[in-house]
Amino acid sequence: MSPDLQRLIKLQQLESTIADAKATIAAHPPRLADADARLNVSTQAVEAAKGRLKDNQEARRNLEKDVAVYQGRLTKFKDQLSLVKTNKEYQAMQHEIATAQSDLGGVEEKVLERMLEADTITADVKRAEAALAVRQKEIDAEKKAMIAELASVEASLKEATEGRVELLKNLEPRLIAIFEQVARVRKGVAISMATRDGLCSVCHVRMRPPVFQQVRQNDNIIQCESCQRILYWIPPPPPVEHAVVHT
Ligand SMILES: [Zn+2]
Repeated sequence: MSPDLQRLIKLQQLESTIADAKATIAAHPPRLADADARLNVSTQAVEAAKGRLKDNQEARRNLEKDVAVYQGRLTKFKDQLSLVKTNKEYQAMQHEIATAQSDLGGVEEKVLERMLEADTITADVKRAEAALAVRQKEIDAEKKAMIAELASVEASLKEATEGRVELLKNLEPRLIAIFEQVARVRKGVAISMATRDGLCSVCHVRMRPPVFQQVRQNDNIIQCESCQRILYWIPPPPPVEHAVVHT
């Protein structure tokens, strides 16, 4: 194969490595943000459960204040009961006491409901905290891997960029111009292998036989007539076993 063709193939490898590395580096901040967002979902779940527990405790405190109020009212009515003079007054007071007792019972029942609810919410908080701990571990490991990957990709980007600079020094400006022009309009892929049955392996268009013949020489810069990519040929391995079978 001609050294120029070899260099162009190498240039393509370096360009592809550079493009992939740049894409990975560009994707790093959104991937980090995504990991943080997933962690945040778990943090929010813990905060939501804790918020419900706080609401529950506050509601219970308020109900307990009501209990104290009703108990005070009941005590006052019972004290007044011994002071009433008439039967009518006595009946009225009894009625007040019954109402106050019923109110007190109602509020005490609500306190109990809140206490039961608190057990459920406390279990929710614990579950959410356990899930957060698991998620935190996952995200930490994920971030560690992402940071290691980024470092390795940055290193390969540096290496490929330096290699490209060296390679370009040994390539004719005419060939660099062809490569860059094709790469620009062909999504960065300026080189294509010819298949054994004479197709351009990227655009899949069949070469004319004389073109295919020339490509197989691997000593000239031949562009695909359809996609303009620079073609090269990898000869098939010699059919050793095949030959043995037929002799
Ligand atoms: Zn082509």
